[in-house]
Amino acid sequence: MKFNTKTIHGGQQNVDPAYGSVMPPIYQTSTYSQTTPGGHKGFEYSRSGNPTRAALERAFASIENGAFALAFGSGLAAIDAVMKLLRPGDEVISTNDLYGGTYRLFTKIFEGFGIKFHFVGMENAERIEQYINDKTKLIWVETPTNPMMNIIDIKKAASIAKKHNVLLAVDNTFATPYLQQPLEMGADIVMHSATKYLGGHSDVVMGALVVKDKVLADRLYFIQNASGAICGPQDCFLVLRGLKTLHVRMQRHCENGKAIAEYLAEHPKIEKVYWPGFESHPNHAIAKSQMHDYGGMISFVTKGNNYGEAIKIVENLKIFILAESLGGVESLAGHPASMTHASIPKVEREKIGVVDSLIRLSVGIEDAKDLIADLKQAIG
Ligand SMILES: *Cc1c(COP(=O)(O)O)cnc(C)c1O
Repeated sequence: MKFNTKTIHGGQQNVDPAYGSVMPPIYQTSTYSQTTPGGHKGFEYSRSGNPTRAALERAFASIENGAFALAFGSGLAAIDAVMKLLRPGDEVISTNDLYGGTYRLFTKIFEGFGIKFHFVGMENAERIEQYINDKTKLIWVETPTNPMMNIIDIKKAASIAKKHNVLLAVDNTFATPYLQQPLEMGADIVMHSATKYLGGHSDVVMGALVVKDKVLADRLYFIQNASGAICGPQDCFLVLRGLKTLHVRMQRHCENGKAIAEYLAEHPKIEKVYWPGFESHPNHAIAKSQMHDYGGMISFVTKGNNYGEAIKIVENLKIFILAESLGGVESLAGHPASMTHASIPKVEREKIGVVDSLIRLSVGIEDAKDLIADLKQAIG
């Protein structure tokens, strides 16, 4: 089955065995009747399993070309489950330009449990190897990165991970399986904030893990059930519905993203545009080889790098909504220095490129002409 068919039918029975409903029903139940102790139809208690969640998990596994998937109450709950594979003394090598919440989870929670993290610029993936020792258990990669749109070579990271017998996990939230499929490139775990493109409509918070290996799947399922950070059936239904249009939404996100990146690059008031589709992007060649297209996430800085001017631009936008998050049908704009990255000291955030005038766009699927006109009036 091709990707564009999998988003609709992947892992699904197509009709529900009870009444033939085309969409999996929302099984809003905490428990399931048993005819005799242990005599049930596959489900006993909804933390352990729920038919609506199971349908969604099969869909996740299908679109990422995995064999097993697990849905969680948020992206961070999914990452939390991966970290619980580790033990005190273990070491993790992580992308340095990381989603802020992931960085907080690693440093404020798991460092306290005796896990050591190395935050490494992985634009040159060979640098990962310098940090590997016999305590290293996991490499954590996020590509494209947030908000600087750096690209990390997944195949190279996978070959280093294999050589040293270390797990490779890839946060595929920004790219989605429409753009890149890390399991196919040798990753062991794919993680998603399904809150973003997979759900796609800014109406649900959810996380996902997808793997190929049965033993790893069993360990993660044990953690999902034992820690209990599951999502409810209503949310599973919403994300199942969202997935069915992932391919058409992504196609438009990419088309609009390209049009807007090119518009901004020509704008006299713009200093620099970060978007992996430009040939001038330092890792454009890697993006081209591992991604099917370049997505709708764009960051840019204005000439003069003026904080107040950047705030004015995001306030002036009328169609782009000033908000955190990304990946929904509606276009969003954010100002990392005062929003997502405000808690990071100015010198630290400037080291990774998050300067005062940096603005991040999640380009939606509206008409590109309207979006460009909106940027034009806001930037002036
Ligand atoms: C949003 C996000 C997360 C966290 O997911 P939640 O669903 O908000 O918990 C992790 N990684 C990336 C890249 C994200 O954008």
